[in-house]
Amino acid sequence: MADIIQLLPDHVANQIAAGEVVQRPASVVKELLENAIDAESTLIKLIVKDAGKTLIQVIDDGKGMSVTDARLSFERHATSKIRSAEDLFSLHTKGFRGEALASIAAIAHVELKTKQEQDELGTQIEIEGSEVKSQEVVVTPKGTSISVKHLFFNIPARRNFLKSNNVELRHIIDEFHRVALAHPDIAFVMVHNGSESFNLPKSNYRQRVVNIFGGKTNEKLVPVEEKTEVLKISGFVGKPEFARKTKNEQFFFVNNRFIKSAYLNHAISSAFEGLLKDGSYPSYFLNLIVDPKTIDINIHPTKTEIKFDDEHTLYAILRSSVKHSLGQFNIAPVLDFDRDKNLDTPYNYEGKRTSNPTVEVDRFFNPFQEEKSSGKPGGISTSYKKEPAAQWESLYVGLESKGTKTNHEFSEVQFESEPENQSLFNDKTTIESSQRTYQLHNKYIISTIKSGMLIIDQHRAHQRVLYEGLLKHTTIKEAVSQQLLFPLELQFSSSEKELLKQLKEDLEHTGFVFSKFKGTSIEITGVPVNVPESEVSIILEQLISDVEQEVPDSNFSATDLLAKSLSKSLAIKAGQTLTNMEQEHLVNSLFACKEPSVSPTNRTTFITMSVDDFDKKFM
Ligand code: ADP
Ligand code: MG
Repeated sequence: MADIIQLLPDHVANQIAAGEVVQRPASVVKELLENAIDAESTLIKLIVKDAGKTLIQVIDDGKGMSVTDARLSFERHATSKIRSAEDLFSLHTKGFRGEALASIAAIAHVELKTKQEQDELGTQIEIEGSEVKSQEVVVTPKGTSISVKHLFFNIPARRNFLKSNNVELRHIIDEFHRVALAHPDIAFVMVHNGSESFNLPKSNYRQRVVNIFGGKTNEKLVPVEEKTEVLKISGFVGKPEFARKTKNEQFFFVNNRFIKSAYLNHAISSAFEGLLKDGSYPSYFLNLIVDPKTIDINIHPTKTEIKFDDEHTLYAILRSSVKHSLGQFNIAPVLDFDRDKNLDTPYNYEGKRTSNPTVEVDRFFNPFQEEKSSGKPGGISTSYKKEPAAQWESLYVGLESKGTKTNHEFSEVQFESEPENQSLFNDKTTIESSQRTYQLHNKYIISTIKSGMLIIDQHRAHQRVLYEGLLKHTTIKEAVSQQLLFPLELQFSSSEKELLKQLKEDLEHTGFVFSKFKGTSIEITGVPVNVPESEVSIILEQLISDVEQEVPDSNFSATDLLAKSLSKSLAIKAGQTLTNMEQEHLVNSLFACKEPSVSPTNRTTFITMSVDDFDKKFM
């Protein structure tokens, strides 16, 4: 038989390699920015059009390339950064594989202009799909400019696989943040579709963090500094009270390279133990400097993961220095690290007065007397007395849910008009209108139905009701808004602000009124009915976090996500006591929904137990 093995032509090999290096526009951004840093630039400008789908350009003022190097830079395994395998163990540059430019040039139209300081003229090269189209001598400033157009032009499957511009831009901004945070001594500018998204002057680290994440960040940073033989730590952690609902202010840099490490992240979380509310994450911006010989960064093509020789020691040092900083800045309750944790006052309770337990006896309590209903009979306007956040009733505005409108899909759940077995004490004179719902542990609402018993999760049920109501508002575009007495100014990072800007129209349909988007602050003059002013910022933060988490999902609908997020934030929580009226109203509203059986996030809202089920249990 004839020989069948062939060597792949270079352009095919390059395309294959490209698949590994370039997953999306953000990967190109990362490689180009890193090359500019390796070239010792002091100012790096990133220009992006249509989230990188139309153009990605990086202009630097670094050392540039000679004519020969310019041409060679597009060859695979062409690198100026390592010469031997040993060099791999003492890396001080970002790149070293010599693969990026070759890969990018294999799947896009690339134009390079570069000039070294001592040269009069520079070089311009145009490459399309690994093919050199032109090479000329040009007048160009010192440094390098690389522009990448028509990414994936020859791999349509890849191109079609790209997500929406919002999503791709989000990834680009993430890369930009990571690179810019790792190099505060370099000035960065980012321009998207002609408008400047970031302008970060050369500064110290703290200033860089603040320039990226917004002015309000400054007050929340606590410095962390530690120098040991194996590890140098510098940077900041966020004060616990500013902990966020999102994980996107968590940054580790090892030798100035952004890395992800669940293990080291755990070290930080454990330093924050007892200081954070559930579901919130500490912010951190930490630089670790270790001997390059003790790490291996070559284990992942996109180089965000890393292997340490001695993880355990790093963990311990990191944890104790973060703890120490929190303690020094009077954030942790006690400085003594060896204390018995069980004796600490939980952070949320700190400063609260204690009170002795008391036993109150209601001498007039009569178990046979029906509780006097406080609301108007049949009305829907009951509201909580104490908690302003709980005036959830009027969130139903626009949802015609008065009365029991049982859903047809749900015919087996029929409310009994009269309990069949009456009560143990069958005394019709004392039990006038029998109570139809009960609240269990301030969490579940229990009701009898023809076939047995209905148990509703109050939080999820309310989410469903709000969700459908919100969807209705946003689709018929009729917002019920309450005007704020004083405009509310909130601070966000530029990327968060961008995101909110994109959601602005949808948010307005729910009742938000925005008056200004300037710098990193947003001014709000109106909010949806019954969203308490004090919760606006939490609600928006939750929304941002939800959108970000949803990002990998391709069928992302802003309206739907918004409705999901808001309903989650606004729904009554477990632990909230509901009056009978409120319980009944919630039950009725739930069954007036299109899809009463699941919450907006597809979790069961209620279960039923039939009399048969009970019978079985009593056998
Ligand atoms: P690597 O960065 O792994 O060496 P690349 O393919 O990214 O591989 O780049 C190949 C070479 O091209 C680099 O080693 C460097 O010598 C040169 N180069 C790339 N970008 C620049 C730049 N912006 N300025 C100067 N030289 C550059
Ligand atoms: Mg490189």
